[in-house]
Amino acid sequence: MLVDNYGRVATDLRVSLTDKCNLRCSYCMPPEGLEWLPGPELLTDDELVRLVALAVGEGVTEVRFTGGEPLLRRGLVSIVERVGALTPRPRMSLTTNGIGLARTAQALADAGLDRVNVSLDTLDRDRFVQIARRDRLADVLKGLVAAEAAGLVPVKVNAVLMRGVNEDEAVPLLRWALAAGYRLRFIEQMPLDAQHGWTRDQMVTADEILGRLAEVFALAPVGADERGSAPAEEWLVDGGPGRVGVIGSVTRPFCGACDRVRLTADGQLRNCLFAREESDLRAPLRAGATDDDLVARMRASLLAKRPGHGIDDPGFLQPVRPMSAIGG
Ligand code: SAM
Repeated sequence: MLVDNYGRVATDLRVSLTDKCNLRCSYCMPPEGLEWLPGPELLTDDELVRLVALAVGEGVTEVRFTGGEPLLRRGLVSIVERVGALTPRPRMSLTTNGIGLARTAQALADAGLDRVNVSLDTLDRDRFVQIARRDRLADVLKGLVAAEAAGLVPVKVNAVLMRGVNEDEAVPLLRWALAAGYRLRFIEQMPLDAQHGWTRDQMVTADEILGRLAEVFALAPVGADERGSAPAEEWLVDGGPGRVGVIGSVTRPFCGACDRVRLTADGQLRNCLFAREESDLRAPLRAGATDDDLVARMRASLLAKRPGHGIDDPGFLQPVRPMSAIGG
């Protein structure tokens, strides 16, 4: 098992398939993009599937493919198929901006993908261009429809609200998601942008989001037992069955129940989104390490997991890697 010193067991593996992205969301990366990881540093499909298989052997039951933009990874469908053939078969989901999903949703579902999370911060085309610096709202909306049609359900939609940009969209986004049958979750903006421009006062907090929603909807909290280790706190909307979630990573941290571990596209294991240290699996793997060696490294990484992300600690330092290179 991948267990830490506080008794938390890692069962949810987030696998970054690439650090590249076709959007340039202002809270994530600069307009010119970033220096992408050199190709030879990326895990090959075989290397990646081997590491995922070892993690599954250590008790991982959920695999989430992410990035960067995972739909940009050539071989994605085959990776999903291969991970889906592992025993025991992990549940598999994908976090994506939805661009290109209209073309690939059915193939991904056929390969065994269970679900998608699509990121969408606004329903307004001009604002989309302002936030993501690309005119691709229509593609995202088409991707969402295709995901639902392919049975990649429940389709979850992740939205980040920013002060003075789209904070007024909390209610319209929820109305839209309820009508379309998508599960909307608002994510607090985190200090993970490549530009290091995050400030606490610019962040729209979970309380603010809930306050705005409560002006229009009746929100009833879903029980803590149902939440388990999920990052989103959920509320039934107007008596249900529609729901809304809020991921208050900054103001309502959920580190005590964390069951996540991350593998970057270049083969570094991270025991926390905010970790400042990583465990290199790629170098030993390429030097001929045995499965036992690699598993020992995974276990050691988890043992070094801190009790919390420490954003509120006076000595907090943003991780060197931005979100896009960690795998969100
Ligand atoms: N490209 C994919 C996507 O758009 O979903 C996967 C990677 S993206 C980094 C994953 C999620 O992280 C997205 O929902 C995005 O909005 C979110 N994200 C990126 N930077 C963030 C930040 N600084 N704070 C909170 N969420 C962030």
